[in-house]
Amino acid sequence: MRFDILTIFPEVSHGYFNESIIKRAQKKKLVEIKIWDLRKFSRDKHKKVDDKPYGGGPGMVLKIEPIAKALESILKLRRRTSKSKTSDVLIVLLSASGKQFNSKMAANFAKKYKRIIMICGHYEGVDERIKKVVLDLGFRISDLSIGHYVLTGGELPAMVIVDAVSRHILGVLGTGESLEEKRYGVGVPSYTRPEIFNKKYRVPKVLLSGDHKKIEAWRLKKARRFRDNYRRQK
Ligand code: SAM
Repeated sequence: MRFDILTIFPEVSHGYFNESIIKRAQKKKLVEIKIWDLRKFSRDKHKKVDDKPYGGGPGMVLKIEPIAKALESILKLRRRTSKSKTSDVLIVLLSASGKQFNSKMAANFAKKYKRIIMICGHYEGVDERIKKVVLDLGFRISDLSIGHYVLTGGELPAMVIVDAVSRHILGVLGTGESLEEKRYGVGVPSYTRPEIFNKKYRVPKVLLSGDHKKIEAWRLKKARRFRDNYRRQK
């Protein structure tokens, strides 16, 4: 799976992608991550990538030209290097008002796409017409949000999507890790040594019992409780 991130702050995500599971996934060539600096695609002599919004108002909007040029360049590059079809590629416009990204989508994306290209907005967002450009290039585009809050830019959401999708790619998680995740889902509390911290903070007795059936039942119960609470909050 290949991820392309189009951003005006290309340095932001390097630290995260060069650690832990995502670093290992890249080393094993299960995941490839390319970060594109949108300023490099600006024709402006000052490498300007934003401008004032039509209709007035505060803030700046990311211009359409650098993004369109970056997409054309990346996609041309793709034709030279890979035989994948346009249906293997998803272009994502990160947006606070987009469809809420979730675990089911992450699993689906990992199965369905060979490549995900993400456009990170900043300031007041991105010139809306970029969606039509993408459709005219013959690709699908999806507005995605990672939650009901407004962030400064699309870089954190892009990192979240890379991480969540990568975990569903075969071989990215170690066998033990992926089995645990599949069996219980999320929400199972974890503990490690010491057994008693500061004389009063204890590990639940069941986890020390050595009774695997009881431990399994306890974990399933915790995961179920988490799922029920989560559904209620929604
Ligand atoms: N006025 C814009 C709006 O109503 O959508 C907010 C722009 S926000 C300050 C700047 C950029 O951050 C957005 O273009 C988007 O790329 C990204 N962003 C902010 N919150 C996000 C969220 N919850 N999920 C995904 N992207 C988000």
